[in-house]
Amino acid sequence: MKVALRDDDTSYFTDPARLDAVYHDVWDRLPVCLAVVPHAMGFADKAIPEKYWQSHRPYPLEENPAIVARLRELTAAGRVTIAQHGFTHEDFPDGHEFQAAPDLEMRLARGHAYLEHLIGTKIRVFVPPHNALSKRGLQAVSTAGLNLLGSFLSFRPSMRPWEPRTLANWWRVRHYRASTNRTKADRMIYPHVLRYRHHAEFGCHSLIPGTTLDELVRGFEEARHAGGNFCIATHYWEIDETLKDVLVRFMDHAARAPGVQFVPAERLFDVN
Ligand SMILES: [Zn+2]
Repeated sequence: MKVALRDDDTSYFTDPARLDAVYHDVWDRLPVCLAVVPHAMGFADKAIPEKYWQSHRPYPLEENPAIVARLRELTAAGRVTIAQHGFTHEDFPDGHEFQAAPDLEMRLARGHAYLEHLIGTKIRVFVPPHNALSKRGLQAVSTAGLNLLGSFLSFRPSMRPWEPRTLANWWRVRHYRASTNRTKADRMIYPHVLRYRHHAEFGCHSLIPGTTLDELVRGFEEARHAGGNFCIATHYWEIDETLKDVLVRFMDHAARAPGVQFVPAERLFDVN
């Protein structure tokens, strides 16, 4: 069983000391997949320091040389891997970036090339801002051939671009839902990779303020008994002592289970 960790929102606004403070004793056990925003927009958002809330301009990652240098070191050391997290992470009047931006293909392609070149690493995973993806957004990610780490993506065929595997995957998810005695309204993270023609998808369990160790352990044990894998999704900027403690105790729990391997999130998509 593979266990991975994804952390969202590293950007121009990130102080590398904050990543070090949160993960210095984590990433040698469990590499962190950092979902990085290439050209983060300055606007009123909890992840952004208040002095940028009125700026309303995009900040390319390279304008913060300290974070770029640290990301290069951390990827070279195998402590982190890099995923693409949107392009500007901005909101539009009718939705989040990968639901509502008019130029999704350009945002994907530019952001991907930019991060690969700047940090000097391969990027194979995309994380949509706010885990939100329209049908058009999903089509763009699939065409780009990037694998998707989400949380609550819809599996309903009507919400997705059509391709031959859509229906079979929907049946898989339905069958799993029924086998765990859930109704449509019950929260569910499907614990297996879903493969499509040009990409694959995997859902993560959120670690946010209020998440308990018990909730994570329950999700992990359910995935383990289903023969699946497990990924946590969190944000370094809201990890306080309480959440850090939940994370470390979860890792201790998972490490005691037989056959568990801590892996970079990209490896969730490997065929074996
Ligand atoms: Zn985000």
